[in-house]
Amino acid sequence: MPEPVIASSRPRVLSGMRPTGKLHLGNYMGALANWVKLQDQYECYFFIADLHALTSDYADPSRITENILDVALDYLAAGLDPARSVLFLQSKVLQHAELNLLLGMITPVGWLERVPTYKDQQKNLSNKDLSNFGFLGYPVLMASDILIYQPKFVPVGNDQTAHVELTREVARRFNQFYKLNGEEVLPEPQVLLTPSPTLPGTDGRKMSKSYGNTIQLTDPEPEVRKKLKTMVTDPARVRRTDVGDPDKCPVGDLHKVFSSPETLAKVYEGCRSAGIGCIECKGWAADALVQVLAPMQERRASYTVPQVMEILEDGSNRARVRAEQTMQQVRSAMQMPMTTTAAK
Ligand code: SF4
Repeated sequence: MPEPVIASSRPRVLSGMRPTGKLHLGNYMGALANWVKLQDQYECYFFIADLHALTSDYADPSRITENILDVALDYLAAGLDPARSVLFLQSKVLQHAELNLLLGMITPVGWLERVPTYKDQQKNLSNKDLSNFGFLGYPVLMASDILIYQPKFVPVGNDQTAHVELTREVARRFNQFYKLNGEEVLPEPQVLLTPSPTLPGTDGRKMSKSYGNTIQLTDPEPEVRKKLKTMVTDPARVRRTDVGDPDKCPVGDLHKVFSSPETLAKVYEGCRSAGIGCIECKGWAADALVQVLAPMQERRASYTVPQVMEILEDGSNRARVRAEQTMQQVRSAMQMPMTTTAAK
């Protein structure tokens, strides 16, 4: 039997990631590190969006199971705590699919075609045929993922606020059409802006799996050092005797996020006077990264696969109970006599 949902006086937040494989430092700084902090202040639901993976990877789902496990392990390694947060798998809560169907009825196609990432991704992922219905409709699924928990906030970085805005528009449209006993059913969630520095990858572009320039949360120390060694630097420092500027160097950007104020001061002084070499400077950056990664890797190693599956199973059971509460209101408001066996 699923645990009953504990009524919490804390505001509810909801967020998730697609299972695209092992997570990297950019994912950590962009989202996970903030989620970990939110656990003490909010009632947190964090999920793995495996149905979303199918919107673009429908032709080859062979890696999804492995990727789910990797993301779940990275969530736990980063410090998400199943005792304080509901950690769950989207496809295990069928109510997401049901709400997606119902919200799809009221969402104008024009809204979906206008989403900037729709055309961008079709262009950028030209090796995949993204003319499918599921890809066009992914913002509706995303709105369903959020609205089904009736959260107060969705924690996002600056570049993702547009996604939440569409969710708010869908909620508004639903509430215009349907009410339950005169009351609105789907509150519009607010954006909870979280600080999320954009990390450079080893080639100086934004750290991203698609660029192949990442430092993964699971990279062992020698691998981190090796990647740092080949990282691009301030192009003005061609020779050891040339002065450089950490503000124009991706390694400098890593120092700003991860190094102590003392090390950062040494970097600025040494780089601008050519008092240090880039190899030495990169070694300090690697030291700082290893300090962040080591405890995560230790935590990751403490979980077995069956334990992780049990955590996701338990979290999905709890999420389903909460999702079903919303669905009962949604079905009543839409005068749909639907029931789902998923909640039983
Ligand atoms: S010394 Fe450090 S900050 Fe300066 S250019 Fe080299 S790697 Fe970059």
